[in-house]
Amino acid sequence: MYNGDIMALRCPIVSVLGHVDHGKTSLLDRIRTTRVTTREAGGITQHIGASEIPIGTIKKVSKDLLNIFKADLSIPGILVIDTPGHEAFTSLRKRGGALADIAILVVDINEGFKPQTIEAINILKQCKTPFVVAANKLDKISGWNSINGPFITNFNEQKQHPNALTEFEIKLYENVIAPLNELGFEADVFSRVKDTTKTINVIPVSAMTGEGIPDLLIIIAGLAQKFLEQKLGLNVEGYAKGTVLEIKEEKGLGKTIDAIIYDGIAKAGDYIVIGNPDGVITSKVKALLKPKALDEMMDPRDKFKPSKQIVAATGVKISAPDLDMVIAGSPLRIVSKSEIESAKEEIVQEIEDFEITLDDE
Ligand code: GDP
Repeated sequence: MYNGDIMALRCPIVSVLGHVDHGKTSLLDRIRTTRVTTREAGGITQHIGASEIPIGTIKKVSKDLLNIFKADLSIPGILVIDTPGHEAFTSLRKRGGALADIAILVVDINEGFKPQTIEAINILKQCKTPFVVAANKLDKISGWNSINGPFITNFNEQKQHPNALTEFEIKLYENVIAPLNELGFEADVFSRVKDTTKTINVIPVSAMTGEGIPDLLIIIAGLAQKFLEQKLGLNVEGYAKGTVLEIKEEKGLGKTIDAIIYDGIAKAGDYIVIGNPDGVITSKVKALLKPKALDEMMDPRDKFKPSKQIVAATGVKISAPDLDMVIAGSPLRIVSKSEIESAKEEIVQEIEDFEITLDDE
């Protein structure tokens, strides 16, 4: 618990963006396969459309860094959205859906900024989403001896390879820091950042070797927590609020919605209210579905299990009639019958507010 009077902080939602081929998928795979050898730490939980990394795992993987950053982490973990790419992010935001509390912008340290890197930054700016930069493919710097472990400790080891260190500093500056400066952001390697509210943290990583992943996880967890503590009303309370990630046809279920729930609690038997360009759609939830663990799967086609209740932040598959007109990126609520009208008003307002913000910029 974060405070005696306030409910526990929810899992912050993390999204990965960046130019094609700079390593978003590889980085997500690395994060998803983060393992600790001790059994009690608990593994990654697979959600619909997202993976949850418990704080126990982050603390164990990043244990050498906890002292350095004096991180006092009370979030339950982080929820990383599995679909990388800025297109999903743009379409989600265009319809006013909240998607991420914090983002990881992936930049190939050898290639530097590309059109989609700049596009991604513009979206993050517009959404006021805080972000860190993962300067990826560190292992490709010539002479750099990349390891599967913290960057901060390996950096000191490179003193034996002065040429590699020089090349690293040049590429970091020319390909990452200077372009960020040009766009109006102060930025530096996280270990040199004094004020995280003013300077973007750059975390050198290699999705290939695993270098820097502990550093990335601890920085993300620390920043997300700071940010969530400042945002009021983002503790888990009231009805569920979320965003449609995808519409999927499932055998035996028909059209289903994969959604990320960022606030509140939903119960099976509640009603779903979704904002669409043509108006608001209301339907009765048939089932709230979670993925089955591999060992629970008697039949490979039988992939989901119903939940009586789900709590933010989480990914969920929703089965309900009349979902044909729903589109990805729409805001949604899951409410009791008496709350349908107020949820409809809230969604209409949310879409209008966002359109106004877009027009302003
Ligand atoms: P995405 O398009 O941003 O999702 O990029 P991918 O994750 O598909 O990576 C593009 C290519 O870069 C693939 O061939 C990866 O194997 C390679 N790659 C990704 N990360 C690294 C890295 O850290 N080091 C090296 N050497 N190659 C990488």
